[in-house]
Amino acid sequence: IVMLSMFSCKQNGEFAYKNKALTIDERVEDLMSRMTLEEKIGQMNQYNGFWNVTGPSPIQGDAAKKYKDLRKGYVGSMLNVRGVDEVSAVQKIAVEETRLGIPLIIGFDVIHGYETMSPIPLAEAASWDLEAIKKSAEMAALEASSVGINWTFAPMVDVSRDARWGRVMEGAGEDTYLGSKIAYARVKGFQGDDLSKENTIVACAKHFAGYGFAESGRDYNTVDVGTSTLYNIIFPPFQASIDAGVKTFMNSFNELNGVPATGNKFLQRDILKRDWNFGGFVVSDWGSISEMIAHGHAENLKQAAEIAANAGSDMDMESYAYVDELANLVKEGKVKEALIDDAAKRILKVKFELGLFDDPYKYCNKEREEKILGSQEVMDASLDMAKKSIVLLKNQNQLLPLKKQGQNIAVIGALANDKTSPLGSWRIAAKDSTAVSVLEGLLAYKGNKITYAKGTDVAIGIPDFITEVKINTTDKSGFLEAKTVAKKADIVVMVLGEHGFQSGEGRSRTDLGLPGLQQELLEEVYKINPNIVLVLNNGRPLTLGWADAHIPSILECWQLGTQSGNAIAQVLYGEYNPSGKLPMSFPRNVGQVPLYYNYKNTGRPTLPGKDVVFWSHYQDEKNSALYPFGHGLSYTEFAYENLKIKQKGNKVLVKVDVKNIGKVNGKEVVQLYIRDVFASITRPVKELKGFEMISLAPNEEKTIDFTLSDKELGFYDNQGAFIVEPGKFKVFIGGSSKTVIETSFEIYE
Ligand code: BGC
Repeated sequence: IVMLSMFSCKQNGEFAYKNKALTIDERVEDLMSRMTLEEKIGQMNQYNGFWNVTGPSPIQGDAAKKYKDLRKGYVGSMLNVRGVDEVSAVQKIAVEETRLGIPLIIGFDVIHGYETMSPIPLAEAASWDLEAIKKSAEMAALEASSVGINWTFAPMVDVSRDARWGRVMEGAGEDTYLGSKIAYARVKGFQGDDLSKENTIVACAKHFAGYGFAESGRDYNTVDVGTSTLYNIIFPPFQASIDAGVKTFMNSFNELNGVPATGNKFLQRDILKRDWNFGGFVVSDWGSISEMIAHGHAENLKQAAEIAANAGSDMDMESYAYVDELANLVKEGKVKEALIDDAAKRILKVKFELGLFDDPYKYCNKEREEKILGSQEVMDASLDMAKKSIVLLKNQNQLLPLKKQGQNIAVIGALANDKTSPLGSWRIAAKDSTAVSVLEGLLAYKGNKITYAKGTDVAIGIPDFITEVKINTTDKSGFLEAKTVAKKADIVVMVLGEHGFQSGEGRSRTDLGLPGLQQELLEEVYKINPNIVLVLNNGRPLTLGWADAHIPSILECWQLGTQSGNAIAQVLYGEYNPSGKLPMSFPRNVGQVPLYYNYKNTGRPTLPGKDVVFWSHYQDEKNSALYPFGHGLSYTEFAYENLKIKQKGNKVLVKVDVKNIGKVNGKEVVQLYIRDVFASITRPVKELKGFEMISLAPNEEKTIDFTLSDKELGFYDNQGAFIVEPGKFKVFIGGSSKTVIETSFEIYE
């Protein structure tokens, strides 16, 4: 009788959860009261798509099981289903063929744009421009939402100090303060303030936690970090994501201090859901529940499901662990039904907030898709972000900006003519060869003569997200042509660096030099014509010692997305004055890695005496970075003076004057660092605690104010408690972490 009345209610659309007039909590409660255990577990199950759901090919293997589960209401989410047609097709099954008609939440890795790519996240971080970064996420959400996507697996907020790790391209670099500000901006950009709007999508802070601290920079490797690093360095960007209202978290592949993050109750239940009061849901990383078997933490898939569910992983991405094992575990009493209820509620709540119950097809609209993908608005934002992401590392002899007329310019390097590499990794929906190349960008300016020579290929064949990149180490057949064009040129623009798929997931490297024969090509061309502007395209810090010692001008251009070549040309020609600052230290030698500006002192003197060997150093290399965190030049210069400090109650007010002492307009990122000189837990030699981007005309001067309060002055102790200790502090200000001006103050009990 109960079943019959449910069905009749459904046909008449009378279920309370369908009633928009009720609150979301009431609707969730009503829906939950109608769901079977299996249906609740179904909400916790996420399947990958990646087969042609609308096409004619028969559905086989896993896909057949997936369809069956989908029809039964045992799938809560799918990822990698894309385009309005595909999304509509799976959504239709969920909404029209299942008993309760619960819509799917459609996820996708919208990491830096959907079809129109913006710069890789590390590049965007180099802009230090929080408004532009937020806008870039808004544009990604706009495009993604137009093809039916509700949820992005971004931002990646993992702090990393290890350039060997390929996924540094996907984060905001080495610093927790900058990373937190950027995490906040990105979450706000994706989600906006109202998720039910058609142009906003759910964000996901990932990977919780410690993924960026993989031993020896090898992706997925063991992570072993102490409480101080966990609380002071790794956690803050995740907390900032919660402050911004992030609705989901993703756990991570790595183990943390012996317990895989996916099965880690301390991380997910104690920290995230209890201490931080996180009300959204946690999705596992891809297959990470089943990977706990290989980690040596679970005996089989059933036990893995038990551990993950009890630890607080709410949704299973592609392990088949929950859908196949969880109901039995509940019946056996190994997982409490209350935990299933909690997980299902968290997931349903987000679906209600997205408005999916009221209009499951609101994100499936062909007209929007056609209007928005690649629209002018999206392209303009991508170009703007790309220009702001460029960092001028060196500019001797004022080789830059280039003259617009009468120059003979040789453009050398395979990456100069590459329309795919600038798209970077994580660009599943972007079409190959859709980026503007550097060559195209330069050719758009007519005043100079441009001659191109490839010199050498970076990669052999056409690598992709899955296939390993094979580097060219033998074929020098293009060297002669490169040297010939260099000989006739006034200026040589060499575009060198990494192939677009040399960074990203699974792309760790032990050598951070220019891959393949590019270094040799650079040195050969230099012998012919030393007037070189080196344009770098790469997804991580590189070791550039030789280039720094020889090449007059070096421009770090990362992988800048669809508008790459246009942005680079505008900077080369001085139409945009570079304003980016490095979000990661560039080492001199890979042996220094992990290398970061906020290190701690040892007990040994920091300044070596002459011929004294017993200080903390390398015999064969300096301790310092080649280009430190925060470094970035401009076509103008800035002077810092009048650093003043005033204490007001428990706040410290800092003032500094910054003046443009060069000849052109420019933007500067004024950076404030502190040092807590003595503390119960030793503190770093410098920590970023404030920054502001300013624009100054020649001779213009501005006073910049910063306020330091407990939040900036305190730290987490080894029990995870936040404390502020009285005592002496130093304040440093400048245009990089190699600051130019400093003062100190004391706080009393
Ligand atoms: C990555 C995640 C990503 C997921 C889905 C995993 O391999 O670690 O960051 O969101 O795949 O594509």
